[in-house]
Amino acid sequence: MEWITAINPATEEVTRKYRPDGTSTIQKKLKLAREAVLSWKETSFETRAQILCKAAEILRNRKQEWAELMATEMGKPVAQGRSEAEKCAWVCEYYAQEAAGMLQPMEIPTDASRSYVTFEPLGLILAIMPWNFPFWQVFRFLAPNLMAGNVAVLKHASNAPGCALAIQEIMLQAGLPEGVFQTLMVSSAAVKDLIAHPFIQAVTLTGSTEAGKAVARQAGAYLKKTVLELGGSDPYVVLADADVERAAEICVSSRLINSGQSCIAAKRFIVVKDILNAFTERFVALMQEKNMGDPLQENTDIGPLARTDLRNQLHRQVQRSIQAGAKCLIGGKVPRLKGAFYPPTVLTQVKKGMPAFDEELFGPVAAIIAAKDEQEAIQLANQTSFGLGAAVFTRDLQKGEQIAAHQLQAGNCFVNALVKSDPRLPFGGIKSSGYGRELGLFGIREFVNIKTVYIA
Ligand code: NDP
Repeated sequence: MEWITAINPATEEVTRKYRPDGTSTIQKKLKLAREAVLSWKETSFETRAQILCKAAEILRNRKQEWAELMATEMGKPVAQGRSEAEKCAWVCEYYAQEAAGMLQPMEIPTDASRSYVTFEPLGLILAIMPWNFPFWQVFRFLAPNLMAGNVAVLKHASNAPGCALAIQEIMLQAGLPEGVFQTLMVSSAAVKDLIAHPFIQAVTLTGSTEAGKAVARQAGAYLKKTVLELGGSDPYVVLADADVERAAEICVSSRLINSGQSCIAAKRFIVVKDILNAFTERFVALMQEKNMGDPLQENTDIGPLARTDLRNQLHRQVQRSIQAGAKCLIGGKVPRLKGAFYPPTVLTQVKKGMPAFDEELFGPVAAIIAAKDEQEAIQLANQTSFGLGAAVFTRDLQKGEQIAAHQLQAGNCFVNALVKSDPRLPFGGIKSSGYGRELGLFGIREFVNIKTVYIA
């Protein structure tokens, strides 16, 4: 039996070991979930909303505790962990308030005496989630789906088992009936059988493109619907007329969110050559100001990465980019410290064919790419297998909007702002960044039967 082990990435010490669920425990949990499907479907919006509002209260009241748990399991600085708990509370309240309206039957006049569409829950959904936002990724799936009348089982990342159990505890304490949401303590090896299980109706995964492909293949074999929110290599295009100071600040903030481990962190900075030097200088200065250290300290901006293997993988991507001709302006060295730390790093002269251009760099490493003009900048932005987020910086708002709305190939395109998720707006990608949407109206309608009712 392989234990599921929580390791503090700042100290490399094992904090706790969890016994994985065996076959009979998994069967018992799935049976319990199955039994909850009907009663939860028949529970009123009002009751569901009350439970979500209670969950929001628990998230807020105990946010320091959740932040410390995140810090010790995956290295998130505590201030960011508290914000994450707050954002989870927001998404619970948002759907508590909006879901009934979003799922109201929709009348559609035809030749029938009455025809309309209803949104019926699908039943039991399997959620496979990553460690980088160990609370948020779960709640942004869970809040809309509970309101839609679905029940769920969670297979969380193996390095965030305490977070997985904490979320289950929050929901039970909020009054969610037994079986409506449960954590399965399993590694990814167990996922194949879960997907095949007849009680599971659909699967959502947030994580790497590789994991997404594996899950899509398995779910495809059983014709089970999937929503996949995968990696990204978000381009931030900085045009010649941009406010350089402001653009550099936003670009640095976006690159360093969660110590650089966010699917929608800015990863490639495509800068028109007229302002390349000014932008680079300011960008480097701001990166250097950041404080790397113990995630439990209030003044820490950058904690350790989530695991040492991920840190080592990132370092290899940096080294391979340098070997291929990129220039390292700051960072780029593994510190002589215990823990999975990696310093803020800036690479310039990055080009297609280098890992820093072609792959997802999941850590505080920025790739600056020069473009001769606006047109080339947009081309470079789109020369990627990913398509999650993108941003453009310009003082000409009309031009910015035109580029964001029509030229950048990604699911979330922002002008003069950092790409972020918002419960009110749909969120998701195209190409290797996945498909389907979370959040907003589109998110709550992913795992429902959009049923046509026709009365002659
Ligand atoms: P993974 O994508 O491997 O893990 C995410 C989740 O998927 C975890 O719950 C994991 O379980 C599960 N999983 C992994 N492989 C499979 C599979 N074949 N079948 C079913 N489930 C699977 O991320 P890693 O932690 O290994 O990180 C690797 C890279 O992925 C990062 O460097 C980053 O580039 C990217 N990533 C992107 C994220 C995003 O938000 N876009 C989030 C996390 C990672 P288990 O932990 O048990 O393996």
